[in-house]
Amino acid sequence: MPDFKTYSFDGKKVLIRVDFNVPLNKETLEISDDKRIRAALPTLNHILENGGSVIVMSHLGRPKEGPEDKFSLKHIVSGIEKNLNRPVQFANDCIGQEAIDKSKNLKKGEVLLLENVRFYKEETQGDMQFAEKLASFGDCYVNDAFGTAHRAHASTTQIASFFPNDKMVGFLMQAEIESAKKVMEHAEKPFTAIVGGAKVSDKVLIVENLLKVADHIIIGGGMAYTFFKANGGEIGNSLCEDERLETCREILQKAKEKGVQIHLPVDSIIADRFADDALTKNCESQAIQTGWMGLDIGEKATESFKNVLLNSKTILWNGPMGVFEMTAFSNGTKSVAEAVAEATKNGAYSLIGGGDSAAAVQKFGFADQVSYVSTGGGALLEYFEGKVLPGIAAILD
Ligand code: AMP
Repeated sequence: MPDFKTYSFDGKKVLIRVDFNVPLNKETLEISDDKRIRAALPTLNHILENGGSVIVMSHLGRPKEGPEDKFSLKHIVSGIEKNLNRPVQFANDCIGQEAIDKSKNLKKGEVLLLENVRFYKEETQGDMQFAEKLASFGDCYVNDAFGTAHRAHASTTQIASFFPNDKMVGFLMQAEIESAKKVMEHAEKPFTAIVGGAKVSDKVLIVENLLKVADHIIIGGGMAYTFFKANGGEIGNSLCEDERLETCREILQKAKEKGVQIHLPVDSIIADRFADDALTKNCESQAIQTGWMGLDIGEKATESFKNVLLNSKTILWNGPMGVFEMTAFSNGTKSVAEAVAEATKNGAYSLIGGGDSAAAVQKFGFADQVSYVSTGGGALLEYFEGKVLPGIAAILD
């Protein structure tokens, strides 16, 4: 695989897959957060500054049956233009005659955005002929869409086979792979993983895989209560997945055998309702009465988690410690974010991954005080689960 940094883009038409699946305002259809566009700028600018022209492919949303106006990439043209500071052409169809003509006439330094690739079901089916049509537009292929690297779709995976000697990963993808590998393959010890969020079932595979590499696993959020119940605790009306009790027991047993320390929140902020203005009190997490539910980790838990984090050299964080969207239950997540930032300042490497924990560090103002905030939700989770990501394998393997 050629190196993206040294590859000669001069005079080449560069087909690039990005993840511009940005949120749009429901009424105005204007971009409400252009983070994903900004994340791809170093890659796009590098190609343009080195004499290439760029043909951009992306998806937006999950169109079901062909084109739908609300999922058209035409809504993001001006957002890309603003960020790139140059005009962006648009082709109404990603493989039609217009796309063929516009890509053929593209000159050095010019940018063409193709319409949503998911307007064709062939995209998600990973159809080879569809991939070949897209491939015909470019001299080389760059994948910078980490957010969709776990999908074996035509524009993320099959297309790479048409560029055996001219396929590369862009700067964003490189940074994502490096940070994930640093944690899962070359972690400096002690390595602490923080796993939170609503459900055990969503995180079982990750926890099991982390048992192979982590020294400490902190478990918070709604998923912690299934663990308490599995240990014979009373959890009142807290979130619980009864069908996962055995899984929790197995995880605790495996951790013991492997010498991995599992940290559950000893106390919780409990509430009489799932509401920001509910009646709340602090309570031992294993002794919650009926009518009450644990919605955040308590003060003792926060202190003990902080202690573990400040003694760690590598930290991975996925999933909030409580219902951080509500002020009354945001303290645990905020304090953990603060502790991760402090550990980072003291020299630890910290990777924040998955939608909600990334949103939480952003919300509480710590995003620039951690080592890396991943742009990939599902893709990063699958990597942590130990799965091969087809979008990356198609280029690197
Ligand atoms: P996930 O997408 O699985 O990472 O879960 C994130 C969601 O879990 C957030 O929307 C949180 O509000 C929610 N959550 C975290 N802790 C709890 C809890 N103790 N009870 C109910 N929901 C929770």
